[in-house]
Amino acid sequence: MRKQFIAGNWKMNLDTKQAAELARALLDAAGELGDIEIAVAPVATSISAVIEVLRGSKIAVAAQNCYWESAGAFTGELSPEMIREIGCQHVIIGHSERRQFFGETDETVNKKVHAAFRAGLLPIVCVGESLAEREQGKTMEVVSTQLKQSLRDLRDEQVTQLTVAYEPVWAIGTGKTASPDQAQEVHAFLRGQLMETFGPGAAEAVRIQYGGSVKAANAAELLSKADIDGALVGGASLKAEDFLGILREAG
Ligand code: PEP
Repeated sequence: MRKQFIAGNWKMNLDTKQAAELARALLDAAGELGDIEIAVAPVATSISAVIEVLRGSKIAVAAQNCYWESAGAFTGELSPEMIREIGCQHVIIGHSERRQFFGETDETVNKKVHAAFRAGLLPIVCVGESLAEREQGKTMEVVSTQLKQSLRDLRDEQVTQLTVAYEPVWAIGTGKTASPDQAQEVHAFLRGQLMETFGPGAAEAVRIQYGGSVKAANAAELLSKADIDGALVGGASLKAEDFLGILREAG
């Protein structure tokens, strides 16, 4: 049985004080939540403050991105080793905003995924089609290519530890959610692709999160689907009550 994994992607929001306050509010309620895995991804400048608040709790901390080299002349970048050193357990890689605004490609995603494992971080690897691609009937082709290229040359036991986030680009921050059946169809397809490439053990173990305008009101139905193993939540992770509403549905 895969444990539900809900991650909050705070994107470029909340200053350090606000981030620590949100972490504290989540921590205060964590005891009443079910047996689920939880992570939050603050901006890089707030990671240490959030880790300080959440230390020893069941809420893990993720970075929103990393570079693939360990150190060197790469101005503005953070290596996975540095992110691991300050106490993060996870790193989000290949978010559609990074693909859209910062030139992320399946090739750079693949390098980052390998680098994350090298540093002892567990990647959350994002895939998803645009509205135009969905309307042209290319959803499965697009997510299959993204998945296979992003995970190229990983060992089966690495694949079992990572998380895939299926995030249809047209549903991110738009208020439009894929219907539970639409999402389940893509999740089942992605699991089939994992099976073909990495075998049944890996395919059964990998958590596939859904992301795209998840909120408390739609979480239960999405999470009830056989191949939806959690959520990557943007906007609704920025307020404690909204995020806790989703966490309670998952528990
Ligand atoms: C995201 O950016 O990962 C996301 C899913 O955002 P939102 O929940 O706001 O659609």
